[in-house]
Amino acid sequence: MFGLLFFGRRWDRIKAVQDADNNRIDNSANQATGKVGHEVEHAAFATIHETLVEFIRATVCKREYAHNKYAQPLPLGPLSAGPEHGIATGKSRVFAEMRQLVPDLRKIFQLLVCERRYLEDYRHAENSGNGTEKRVLVKKAFKHLDAKYKKTPRPNCHFSTFVCMKAITLKAGREKSALRYHPWIFSGAVDEVVGDPELGDTVEVYSYRSDFLGLAAYSPKSQIRGRFWTFGEKANIDREFFSDLLDRAIAARKSRGFDIEDKESAFRLINAENDGIPGCIIDKYADIYSVEILAAGAEVHRETIYELLAEKTHCKGIYERCDSEVRRKEGLQLRTGVVYGEVSDEPVIINENGILFPIDVKNGHKTGYYLDQRDARRRIGELSKGKKVLNCFCYTGGFGLYALRGGCEKVYQVDVSKDALKLAKEGIMRNKLSTAHATHVEADVFQYLRKCRDKAETFDLIVLDPPKFVESKDNLQKGARGYKDINLLAMKLLAEGGMLATFSCSGLMEMDLFQKIIADAAADAHRRVQIIERFGQPADHPVNTAFPEGQYLKGLLVQIV
Ligand code: SAH
Repeated sequence: MFGLLFFGRRWDRIKAVQDADNNRIDNSANQATGKVGHEVEHAAFATIHETLVEFIRATVCKREYAHNKYAQPLPLGPLSAGPEHGIATGKSRVFAEMRQLVPDLRKIFQLLVCERRYLEDYRHAENSGNGTEKRVLVKKAFKHLDAKYKKTPRPNCHFSTFVCMKAITLKAGREKSALRYHPWIFSGAVDEVVGDPELGDTVEVYSYRSDFLGLAAYSPKSQIRGRFWTFGEKANIDREFFSDLLDRAIAARKSRGFDIEDKESAFRLINAENDGIPGCIIDKYADIYSVEILAAGAEVHRETIYELLAEKTHCKGIYERCDSEVRRKEGLQLRTGVVYGEVSDEPVIINENGILFPIDVKNGHKTGYYLDQRDARRRIGELSKGKKVLNCFCYTGGFGLYALRGGCEKVYQVDVSKDALKLAKEGIMRNKLSTAHATHVEADVFQYLRKCRDKAETFDLIVLDPPKFVESKDNLQKGARGYKDINLLAMKLLAEGGMLATFSCSGLMEMDLFQKIIADAAADAHRRVQIIERFGQPADHPVNTAFPEGQYLKGLLVQIV
């Protein structure tokens, strides 16, 4: 409050400066001091410094306003030049005024840097259009200011935020998830957007009390308006930043048995938010990397990421699979193509637990394959000996190949995709497994299961690994009905003592609910069913503890008893 009044007293002087000439600093400065020519009176700028710093301290930065919860109307003073300023009260008005002031503050700042120590350099940077140099000078100028005012308490919100940086402030209480390191900022949590950030720009994030929370990538079109890069730290989001994240991910994978030096293996190297690069998935398939980017922040830095990836992995090629419809929600175009080295049209062959899989990174689902079911596939192999197996939603036949290697009597592979079934058949031959023990069926699983039921067919082991049925909270009910339907039918088809491995990759369907659905299906199928094992994500698909949404894959192994 003091600041506004204080500022008010000095306002006439500053306003005269601005009115004089919006663009030409020298002239305006000269008018302020009543002098002519390029000589600038130092005292005038010192006054401006003082006024400005006091103003910022007393309004935006200080906690006083937070303490009285911004409830008291603030004196309008000469700051509220237009009628649009007169209506709001409390905090929102401070911010409204701040926003109005940003261009003015920029000019005042320009005057401020006219202090002799930065004047020449700043003009040079201005003329050469060198943004970085300008930013460095801005930093220097504020350091200088801070030093000058260090006797008074330091504001926790830096003035440079409002003048030079792009920032967002959150509504009261909405800082909680950020304080717990959750990487998303929902649009409803955003109070103010300062400095016109563009798609993917890095913004500083502040709480309603002006506490700095971290740096985030801005997504103006998305429901998820920001994704944090850092928490409580003003790092540069640059090559070094991504290099460090990649190094950490590579080392972490290696410690879990996934080595980038192994030229046959396949695993997920970067698991988006869980590895610190929101919306970015990097999968390794032998010596080819397939990348999917779903968020604006990672999109802006993609070239840096690709360069670093090539450098660190010495891979043969990198293919970009940015063709998911989800990108449109972020305001991003769909795009695919080779971004580094060579990626042939022929499938790349990976070795998964000793089984060779042909992966089509260019046309296959997601980045080409479902790496996340590696452990579950191996378990099915162990359970298959002598059994009649039904592999529903088989895609390229993953579970089926393990069942064949495990010595199943017969495996039925069912999928709607002809291309996927073709690769599934190829996989059997490539691994020198018996084609006589496998039957491939191009069909809709919902219908196929009903057909089997009508023919009273039975199986010893059924795998249900459907695509994501729940895309949004709105269709959770519908998705749940889908899961119940197929599980009920599958339970009816199981022989006595038969097993069902059932999965859901819908993040919005939590394990508790999934288990309830399985219980309902068992009750409706009139079968006694026991849960004997649980499945989750393998170690190359880690879940950040702060980000429960990272846990999307779950499964149950149940048995009819
Ligand atoms: N189990 C596979 C991954 C399955 S992905 C693995 O381990 O690799 C889901 C598969 O379901 C896709 O191949 C898709 O083509 C198929 N699919 C989707 N809807 C289907 C339906 N209604 N009937 C049959 N297959 C379907």
